[in-house]
Amino acid sequence: MPSIQTFIESLHQQYRDLDAGQLASYIPELAKVDPHYFAISVVTTDGQVFQVGDVGQPFTIQSISKVFVYGMALEDWGRDRLLEKVGVEPTGDPFNSLIRLDEDSHRPDNPMINAGAIATTGLIKGDNPTERLNRLLAMFRRYVGKEVYVDISTFLSERATGHRNRAMAHLMLNFGMIGDNLEEVLDLYFQQCALFVTCQDLATMAAALANQGRHPLTGEQVVKPEYVRDILSVMYTCGMYNFAGEWAYRVGIPAKSGVSGGILAVVPNQAGIAVFSPPLDQNGNSVRGLKVFEALSQEYGFHLFDLSMGHCRLKDSLSS
Ligand code: GLN
Repeated sequence: MPSIQTFIESLHQQYRDLDAGQLASYIPELAKVDPHYFAISVVTTDGQVFQVGDVGQPFTIQSISKVFVYGMALEDWGRDRLLEKVGVEPTGDPFNSLIRLDEDSHRPDNPMINAGAIATTGLIKGDNPTERLNRLLAMFRRYVGKEVYVDISTFLSERATGHRNRAMAHLMLNFGMIGDNLEEVLDLYFQQCALFVTCQDLATMAAALANQGRHPLTGEQVVKPEYVRDILSVMYTCGMYNFAGEWAYRVGIPAKSGVSGGILAVVPNQAGIAVFSPPLDQNGNSVRGLKVFEALSQEYGFHLFDLSMGHCRLKDSLSS
């Protein structure tokens, strides 16, 4: 079995010329990105780092932020109170759909789609918008293990064009799922989506979740351990949008993707893994990212139902 470093280098080589997928363009700033960026990072729960490609290239976290803000909302409100406002049911619809919200559920189905994420952001505690933003930034800083920044251009770009998200927020206000400070909530949501991260940062953040909420390098407890299971559950069932079922079948670990081309995934008790490659498929998931994760899962047997049967080979590969 190849060492993880050798294997990710070979995957990078194999897929770097794969010319498929489109850049997200509904947020104008995202359409300006170089589609050739390609990075793979693995951070183990004991702090080893394996990576290849453009691992230090900053990009905006987009929907991957939803995972961490959901964790914070769980800490702020607890499981039951939060469930009253945001469900945990996968939709099978695109991430920005508002059909079920309007015609059926009225409560957003889960926190990994836009409606649920906006409602979740609206629940973050704090006396005013600055305090709420500062709490979110402090939380992201704990996960990343260093200072974090919001990309103002992307924030403004999305604020100027995010009419679907605005429509969702209005629908949720109509159904009593969010308060009437709707523009403030949307600003905070657009700011969290515009957080700058690197591929290595994402793998580190995932490794903290793989490690019961303890940061693999700083040792800090970044989220209460009792909520890690909840976060991973919604990632597993809802994190890859309308590809979530197929992802669970093919790759089999909790994951979250974003329209800037990142995918972050958690191998419990082993490692956090991230891929960054901007071109997306029709579901909004990174094309190269899907290929890399499928190959990694097969090679090292870290599908959850391989893990639970003791078939995972990832730890062995770290020492070889
Ligand atoms: N900021 C983006 C939006 O709200 C995030 C979507 C995504 O990454 N899938 O549309």
